[in-house]
Amino acid sequence: MKLLVVEDEVALADALSEILKRNKYAVDTVYDGEDGLDYALTGLYDCILLDIMLPKKDGITVLRELRAAHLSTPVLLLTAKSDTEDKIKGLDSGADDYLTKPFVSGELLARVRSLTRRRGEVMTDEFTFGDIALNKSTFSLSREGQFVKLSLKEYQILELLIANPKQLIAKERFIEKIWGYESDVEYNNVEVYISFLRKKLTALGSTVTIKTARGIGYFLEGGA
Ligand code: CA
Repeated sequence: MKLLVVEDEVALADALSEILKRNKYAVDTVYDGEDGLDYALTGLYDCILLDIMLPKKDGITVLRELRAAHLSTPVLLLTAKSDTEDKIKGLDSGADDYLTKPFVSGELLARVRSLTRRRGEVMTDEFTFGDIALNKSTFSLSREGQFVKLSLKEYQILELLIANPKQLIAKERFIEKIWGYESDVEYNNVEVYISFLRKKLTALGSTVTIKTARGIGYFLEGGA
């Protein structure tokens, strides 16, 4: 899951990003409305946390422009307590929910979880594919009662593969989703983590394999 935080109060933006990263989200942070709009329009995010009072372009304008561009990414507005009118304007402009500052991290996480839950998705900590299950609270991969622990990057790579079953995922997409839009990570970083994951799948005796589409990317095989 990849989130975008658009918040000009640097301390708050960094605290938000820290809380979210600790909870296994990949996070990009920008500090003004223009960058917020540019980043959001990439369509790479599963949810956008958008402050209303922002330099260069306010949050409501950013939101209207996103919706005008038919971007349906869920938006959680961050508002000050007194901004009742802004909340209404925000919801009318296409926000999915809002969070009043100051907030506690439990509420923030609950709202993000609720907005990123796919329609019809059962609340579960597990993604399954073929004979394997990926657990997002323990970061473990399991098959028939056997478990292996994954690193954060391994987890994120496998989550992206399982979320898009049998779909070819380009190496660029992994880098954008996991390392970040402006990251200078190279393709061989992805290859290294893929090879770790393959070893772990083999160790579990799984029939699931990560296939290579040479020069392009990867896809999963072995699902039922
Ligand atoms: Ca602000």
